[in-house]
Amino acid sequence: MGLKAGDVKYIIDRIDAVMEENREYLTELDSAIGDADHGINMSKGFRAVSRKIKDIAVEDIGVILKTVGITLVSTVGGASGPLYGTAFIRAGAEVSGKSEIDINDFAAMLTGAEAGIKMRGRADLGDKTMIDAIEPALDAIKGGIDKGLSCDEILRLAAKSAQDGVEGTKNIQARKGRASYLGERSIGHQDPGATSSYLIFKTIYESVIELENRY
Ligand code: ADP
Ligand code: MG
Repeated sequence: MGLKAGDVKYIIDRIDAVMEENREYLTELDSAIGDADHGINMSKGFRAVSRKIKDIAVEDIGVILKTVGITLVSTVGGASGPLYGTAFIRAGAEVSGKSEIDINDFAAMLTGAEAGIKMRGRADLGDKTMIDAIEPALDAIKGGIDKGLSCDEILRLAAKSAQDGVEGTKNIQARKGRASYLGERSIGHQDPGATSSYLIFKTIYESVIELENRY
């Protein structure tokens, strides 16, 4: 893979665009089991992130990711802001001082990110949260590395696993976050945060393919 600071910034800009494109969709999902702001939160957060990272001329990917995290924490009011913020801060800590990252770094970043989300939100697999997309994706990445699959294939499988995880959230009851207030009535609805996590994995996959074809 071999992503440099500029590539990471490019991917973050793509995530900003995707959150903008999906603002209504994510908000609609959140209106069914939450307070109808997830799309607004994500697009607002990543818009601020995109502006912020334009100004930082550093090669250290750890610093870039930490800046993303801090910006999300400070601009997003909902539960998702501190959770995604912590995820990016923890991901950055895994690659501190590195100006280039590979798939093993990505696995380490995601392991740290997931641990951070779990520490802050106390959710586990099956609680109908973003963890239901992130954990299957992380498992796919670790499994793909063990099998010696190509980086493109690993990232494709990660996005697919996250998508399957999102589908799975439709059939389960929310045990964490606002949706948990609905109890059994949350069953039958897709989790907004798992959906935004899937969109991030999909964007990473598509952006990496794009970057490879560019050079
Ligand atoms: P809020 O719920 O404060 O309005 P958002 O609507 O932006 O915040 O985000 C809601 C999403 O956050 C949920 O769909 C869920 O995926 C995620 N979420 C909520 N609480 C937790 C938690 N404790 N752990 C992990 N994810 C959570
Ligand atoms: Mg909400």
